[in-house]
Amino acid sequence: MRITVASGKGGTGKTTVAVNLALSLAAAGRAVTFLDCDVEEPNAHIFLRPQIEREETTGILIPEVDDDRCTYCGRCAEVCVFHAIAVIGTKVLVFPELCHGCGSCAYNCPEKAITEVLHPTARLRWGKATGEGTPIAFGEGVLDVGQAMATPVIRELKKKGLPAEEESIAILDAPPGNSCPVVETMRGSDFVLLVTEPTPFGLHDLRLAVQVAREELGLPAGVVINRDGVGDDSVERFCAEAGIPILMRIPLDRRIAEAYAQGETIVARLPEYRERFQALYRRIEEEVGR
Ligand code: SF4
Ligand code: SF4
Repeated sequence: MRITVASGKGGTGKTTVAVNLALSLAAAGRAVTFLDCDVEEPNAHIFLRPQIEREETTGILIPEVDDDRCTYCGRCAEVCVFHAIAVIGTKVLVFPELCHGCGSCAYNCPEKAITEVLHPTARLRWGKATGEGTPIAFGEGVLDVGQAMATPVIRELKKKGLPAEEESIAILDAPPGNSCPVVETMRGSDFVLLVTEPTPFGLHDLRLAVQVAREELGLPAGVVINRDGVGDDSVERFCAEAGIPILMRIPLDRRIAEAYAQGETIVARLPEYRERFQALYRRIEEEVGR
């Protein structure tokens, strides 16, 4: 089972839900993998406190031109929709920060003058988070400062980190928003869990997130309302109209806010929530089985 935990906007409690769901399932003896796909600002490690066992560099493949073969025909620049390569006289210029590593220039070069070389953009970190129950396999991507290409890093993190075993549970903590990195995180998931807050801002971004998950990717989705009790009932009315199940409500609770501020999880501070997060998973299973 692959579950992406997402939210249209930041600050809704997405990582809180993802982390507590993972810990609750591990406490019940389930094999859990947690991937922090918020590669611009990964912060799940603050709560899971994994022991990092291995680190590796990742990046995108950018073109390198062999001047001895190049005829400066300009074909590579013509096919690059990202304007990441330019031919000026007898010089081929590559702009790594614009390159998406699509390989089109190398494929289309008539002289086979282009080879692809790794341009490092991020680190992948792997480890284990031990709490109660089964250790959680942990992975996160960390974009290098100044790098903007999150999507290839997420793709690599998923390729290397997702478990093969059907019975294991993978929880992917998506970046905030609704752009390409979120789509890449959701792609291939069995279920998208959308965390929102019951306010007009929460609703605005929830609508967009639902559009991405259900309409663009065709994935089943459900909602967790965090800080239930603030705001209005517009999120509930939207979910009822759109036929999206509300799977859990987390009330506005000072004890939860204090735990968060101290880098502590809900289930560590309030162990009774373990059963509630386990029940959330059972609801997800039901929705996936429909
Ligand atoms: S397509 Fe190949 S031969 Fe033509 S300018 Fe680009 S690198 Fe050189
Ligand atoms: S790999 Fe793709 S994005 Fe990068 S320079 Fe070549 S064509 Fe452009």
